[in-house]
Amino acid sequence: TQYVYRFGGGVSDGGQGDKNLLGGKGANLDGMASIGLPVPPGFTISTAMCTRYYEDGQHFPDSLRAEVAAGLTHIEGITGKRFGDAADPLLVSVRSGARVSMPGMMDTVLNLGLNDRTVEGLAAVSGDARFAWDSYRRFIQMYSDVVLELDHGAFEEALEVAKEDKGHFLDTDMTADDWQALVASYKKIVEQQWGKPFPQDVNDQLWGAIGAVFGSWQSERAKVYRRLNGIPGDWGTAVNVQAMVFGNMGETSATGVAFTRDPATGERAYYGEFLINAQGEDVVAGIRTPQYLTLAARERAGAKAASMEEAMPETFAELAGVFALLEDHYRDMQDIEFTVERGKLWMLQTRNGKRTAAAALKIAVDMANEGLISRDEAVARVDPAALDQLLHPTLDPAAPRDVLTSGLPASPGAASGTVVFDADTAEKHAAQGEAVILVRVETSPEDIHGMHAAKGILTARGGMTSHAAVVARGMGRPCVSGAGTLAIDAKARLFRVGERTIREGETITIDGASGEVMAGEVATVQPELAGDFGTLMAWADGARRLKVRTNAETPHDCRTARDFGAEGVGLCRTEHMFFDAGRITAVRQMILADSEQGRRAALDKLLPEQRADFTEIFEVMTSLPVTIRLLDPPLHEFLPHEEAEFAEVAEAASVAVDALKRRAAELHEVNPMLGHRGCRLGVTYPEIYEMQARAIFEAACDVAARTGNAPIPEVMVPLVATRRELDLMKGIIDDTAKAVFVEKGREIAYLVGTMIELPRAALKAGEIAEVGQFFSFGTNDLTQTTLGVSRDDAGRFLTSYVDKGIFARDPFVSIDTEGVGELIRIAVERGRATRPDIKLGICGEHGGDPASIAFCEGAGLDYVSASPYRVPIARLAAAQAAL
Ligand code: ADP
Ligand code: MG
Ligand code: MG
Repeated sequence: TQYVYRFGGGVSDGGQGDKNLLGGKGANLDGMASIGLPVPPGFTISTAMCTRYYEDGQHFPDSLRAEVAAGLTHIEGITGKRFGDAADPLLVSVRSGARVSMPGMMDTVLNLGLNDRTVEGLAAVSGDARFAWDSYRRFIQMYSDVVLELDHGAFEEALEVAKEDKGHFLDTDMTADDWQALVASYKKIVEQQWGKPFPQDVNDQLWGAIGAVFGSWQSERAKVYRRLNGIPGDWGTAVNVQAMVFGNMGETSATGVAFTRDPATGERAYYGEFLINAQGEDVVAGIRTPQYLTLAARERAGAKAASMEEAMPETFAELAGVFALLEDHYRDMQDIEFTVERGKLWMLQTRNGKRTAAAALKIAVDMANEGLISRDEAVARVDPAALDQLLHPTLDPAAPRDVLTSGLPASPGAASGTVVFDADTAEKHAAQGEAVILVRVETSPEDIHGMHAAKGILTARGGMTSHAAVVARGMGRPCVSGAGTLAIDAKARLFRVGERTIREGETITIDGASGEVMAGEVATVQPELAGDFGTLMAWADGARRLKVRTNAETPHDCRTARDFGAEGVGLCRTEHMFFDAGRITAVRQMILADSEQGRRAALDKLLPEQRADFTEIFEVMTSLPVTIRLLDPPLHEFLPHEEAEFAEVAEAASVAVDALKRRAAELHEVNPMLGHRGCRLGVTYPEIYEMQARAIFEAACDVAARTGNAPIPEVMVPLVATRRELDLMKGIIDDTAKAVFVEKGREIAYLVGTMIELPRAALKAGEIAEVGQFFSFGTNDLTQTTLGVSRDDAGRFLTSYVDKGIFARDPFVSIDTEGVGELIRIAVERGRATRPDIKLGICGEHGGDPASIAFCEGAGLDYVSASPYRVPIARLAAAQAAL
C-alpha cells in the first residue's frame, strides 16, 4: 500500500484530493498546488497510516521509511536545498490534518531540520542571523512541547527573563545574539528535563515529529473534541511534511490568516489579520496585536497600524486574486493561512470556513445569487440546527444597558448569565440548569467543555481569530473577545473594570454582535425573519415534500408557529389546558367523582372553557388542519397535593374532604405511564371524550359561522393498542359530531385517527386503519415502549450507552431508525395497504430533529410536527432530506 502522497512543483499524487485519505489539510494543499497556487512543496502521509500505526502497537512499517525518503527527495528537488545540509539546509513543517478540521486540537512542529550546524548555514544563506536564531529557538520550543512533551512553562519563563534582561518589550526587539543566547538556555532546559541533549540528527527529529502528530490523535483534548463533535475515533489523522517558508525574515515578511468573506456576518468583504516579521501561530497567539488586512477594516476599527492593503499593496492584490480563485474552485467561503517571505506570497492552508448561522445563511443566498452555486446547494449548505441561533431573541436596542466595557464582537448573539471563571465550574453550574458566562483571560482547547456548557464566552485577550472566537462561532455561542480593560483575578473569583468589581455568581450580559459587556440582564427582542432567511426558506419550501406542522396548544404558540411557516397543528395536547388556574378545580372534581353523574357535573363546567380554547386555536389556524389529542395522561397527575386544594375541590363538588382523599388513594397507580391513561380513560369514562369532542365540534361550527372559514379538526385518540378501542372511541366522537351538527345546523369535515405509540398498534396497523383515518407516530412513547426504556429515568445510564456504542445517539433525541424505525415502516406499509389515502405524520420530539426528519422522508410520511421554534429547522431539514 502507498502511504505517501507528494504535492507541489507540478506533482499531485493525491489526484482528486480525497479528504478521507489525505485529511482536509493535505487534500487542500494538493488541491491548491494543482490549480497553480504558490504552495510550498511537500508530501502527505495518509490517515490509513495512522490507523495502521495504532493497529501495530504504535510502530511504523519499514516500507514507510523509503516512502518518506522519496517524499523528501521530491521537496529537495524543487527547493534546491537538502535536508540536514549544513551549508543550505531544507527546513520543513510537520503538520497534522484530520478529515474534518479540528482547530487547535492537533499538534504541528515548524522549522524542523535545524541543529547547531544547520542554523549557521541558514544564517549564512539568508544573510540574516537574527532570523536563523529566531527560527531555531522557535523550533526547540515547539519540538520540546509537542514531541518531547516537556513542561512549556520553563521555556516561556526563560523567554520572559531574556526580554526583561535586555529591556525588550516585544519579541521583535530581540537581536540575533539575544536569540542565540536563548537557544543556549533552551538547550539547557531540555537536558535538565529530558535527561538527554536536544536531538541534533535531523532524521531523528523528523520521525519524532511524525510519531507525535499521530500520537496527538489520541490526546485527551482531541478525544473531547471528537466526542463533542461526533467525530469517530477511527478516522485517524494524516501528517503533512512541507518545506518551510518564512514570515519572520524582516519587514518584507509576514504571516496571516484570512476569510474570503466575513465569517460573523457573511458580508462580502475580506476579513483577516496579519503580522509583519512573524511566524505561524503568532497571529492567533496574541503575542502582538495583529494588523487588519484591509484599509476599510482598519478604518472601521479606528486602528493605527497599517493594514496589509497599505503596507504591502502588491502582495495584498495578489492575495485578493487568490481568494477569488479559491472561492471559484471550492465554491464556498474559505478560511486561509498565508505567509509572505520577502515579498513573495505563499499559501499554507485553505478550508471551508466556519461561520455563524447568520453568515452561513447570507453566504449561501449570496453565492446562489452570484451563480456560484445552485439554489438547491444553497439549501443544502445551511445546517438546520444552526438556524436555532437566528430564531432566538437578540438584545432589545431600546432596553437600558449598564455597559461595563466592550471588546471585539467575536461571535454574534446575546447571552445573559452568571459569571464563572473556569471551565469546570461552568460545566457544574450549567448541569444544574444555571445560565453561565465563562470569563477567561483567553481560552485554550482545555476549556472546550466549559465553553460548551456556557451560554456565552468573554475573554480579556485575543482577536477575532483567537481560539475563543473560532470555537464560539463554531458552537454558536455568543462571544466577546479581547475586552482589554477587564482585569481578571481568577483566584479571587472576580473581575474588575475601572472602578467596578463583578464577582463569580453575579449576572452579566454580553452582546456578541456589538462587543458590549453589560452588568445585569438586558431585555431581548424577537428576531427579524425576512431578508436572507425568508429567501432561503422559500427555496427550501420549494424543494421539500414533507409538510411541516407544529406541536402547540395555546393561541400564542400557534401564532408563533404560523409566523415560522407551520402548515397546521400536528399535536394539540388538551391536558395542558386542564392545568389552567380557573379550571383545575373542576378537573379535579371530575377525576375524583365516583359516579358518572358527578363527572358530568364537573365536565359541564369544563365544556365552555375547552370550547373557548379550541375556538381561539381554530381562529389562528384558519383553514389549516388542527390535530387535537383527547385526554392522555394518567389522572393522578391532576390530583390535589395540599390540604387547601382538597378543601377547595371538596367544596366545589359538595363532598367531604375525607371521601375525596379516599378516592385519591384509590387512584394511586404503581406504574402510571403504563396504567390508566390514554384511550383507557375514554373506555372507562366515555363522558370525558364526549365532552372534548363536543367542545371541538361546537367551536368548529362557531368559527365557521363567524369567519366563513371552516376549521379542519383531526380528532386524535391516544395510546390505542387494538382496533376495538379505536372503534369505540370513534363511535363516541362521530355520535357527538352528528348531534352537534344537528344543533348547529351545519356540518364540518373532520377526521378521526390515532397515535401510534405502542408496538402492538404498529404491528396491527392494517386493522386499525380500517377505523382510523390518520396515524400520528407518537415517537416519544413509541421509543419508550419499544425499547422498554423510561425517558425520565434514562439519564442515569444513557450516556454510558452512547459512550459504549450501544446507541449511536440518544434515541429520545434522534429516532432509533433500526428498531423504532422498523415499527414505523411496518405501520406505514400495513396502514396504507388498508387505506391508501391514510394521512401519516409524526408528533414526537423527533419531529424537530433533522436526522429523524430525514428518516420520515425515507419512510414516506406526509408531515412532521415540531415545536414552534423548531418549525423553520424542520422546513429546512425536510428540504435537505428531499434533495
Ligand atoms: P493548525 O492545524 O493548528 O492550524 P498548521 O499545521 O496549520 O496547524 O500550522 C500551524 C501554523 O504554522 C499555521 O499558522 C501555519 O500557517 C504555519 N505553518 C505550517 N506549515 C508551515 C510552513 N511550511 N511554512 C510556514 N508556516 C507554516
Ligand atoms: Mg492551520
Ligand atoms: Mg404518548
